Amino acid sequence: MHSFTQMALVNENFLKLPGNYLFSDIAKKVEKYKAEHPERRIIRLGIGDVTRPLPEAVIVAMHKAVDEMANKETFRGYGPEQGYDFLREAIIKHDFEPRGIMLRKSEVFVNDGAKSDTGNIGDILDINNRVGVTDPVYPVYIDSNVMVGRTGNMTDDKWNDITYFPCTAENNFIPEIPHERIDMIYLCYPNNPTGMTLSREELGKWVDYALANGSLILFDAAYEAYIRENDVPHSIYEIEGAKRCAIEFRSFSKTAGFTGLRCGYTIVPEEVKASTRNGVEVSLNQLWNRRQSTKFNGASYISQRAAEAIYTPDGKEQIAGNIKYYMDNAKIMRSGLQKAGYKVFGGINAPYLWVKAPDGLSSWDFFDMLLNNADIVGTPGTGFGPSGEGYLRLTAFGTREDCHEAIERINKL
Ligand code: PLP
Repeated sequence: MHSFTQMALVNENFLKLPGNYLFSDIAKKVEKYKAEHPERRIIRLGIGDVTRPLPEAVIVAMHKAVDEMANKETFRGYGPEQGYDFLREAIIKHDFEPRGIMLRKSEVFVNDGAKSDTGNIGDILDINNRVGVTDPVYPVYIDSNVMVGRTGNMTDDKWNDITYFPCTAENNFIPEIPHERIDMIYLCYPNNPTGMTLSREELGKWVDYALANGSLILFDAAYEAYIRENDVPHSIYEIEGAKRCAIEFRSFSKTAGFTGLRCGYTIVPEEVKASTRNGVEVSLNQLWNRRQSTKFNGASYISQRAAEAIYTPDGKEQIAGNIKYYMDNAKIMRSGLQKAGYKVFGGINAPYLWVKAPDGLSSWDFFDMLLNNADIVGTPGTGFGPSGEGYLRLTAFGTREDCHEAIERINKL
């Protein structure tokens, strides 16, 4: 008979998570290469973080907020967990009303970024729900479901209880509507990592599917501000009926350079419902409000004043300038790669380019080729899921000079 030392038990679901070796594997390869070739200048086009500083309007607003905190009359302590009214009102007025979307303040939940809420939303949903994700995918959607035990075990790089919707050049990166019932569907548009989008018509098919099947769509619009084309919806609520079946996640990280400052928000419409096992309909807005009030302290007053400032005329102009800078990078990279003979996807409505590896190379072969022959670092597509094999992700968040030089180097290959 075994005798166990009595101890608290761990959540064993965490032990099922495969190590996230992607970025450490990349770092190791790059370090080794640098040690062997100290004279070469490496250009990093794999970064998923912004590089331009915060806009002036944001800095001014933060200084003012800091001064308020120093004064007995204007000091703020604990704030509302759902966010301050000034920011919730600005979000509704500037991000939704101009698109004909009317929201109540109670439907806007300010947070510290989209990673938190896309990872936490499963708290209010049953463990037996069937989950569907596009493949390749932003890893948080899957890993957060693994942690609570919603995904079963893994075979051949796929979780048994997750349905994958492959997105590749073969289907023009448009995921096929499932034939079976899925309860929770994660969609991210504009997409990280592929940089591709869905048209209003294509997104409408998902909303129709969700309404017909009682599914919940978890719509990640973290890159909404990068959309340039008219037919691409900025919010899922532009689609008729979406308020009854979708939760939308937004972030100031890529919109306004808040990756280090932290602020974002989630929209949970009052109409969106899910059911108890006994068939009683429950408002997800009320559950999420309860969840946030219990487990979340709200974003800081200073971050929220900073976020409010991006909706002023100066703020709008300044963030548009930064986004244009990144999207001009994307344009330069996209056309340069195409001229060099590469098949490139994305980069039109998103700061990501999804490049097909030439000559049937694998993602890692292509990574090695660019590192060894052009001193350029990308991110192998396989890091985002099995359908990422044969692709490499490049981002447009670098400097203009590096983008030009990277293309020059690629042309010389
Ligand atoms: N969603 C997607 C698709 C992302 O790519 C990222 C960040 O890279 C996030 C959410 C997280 O953003 P945040 O900084 O708001 O947590």
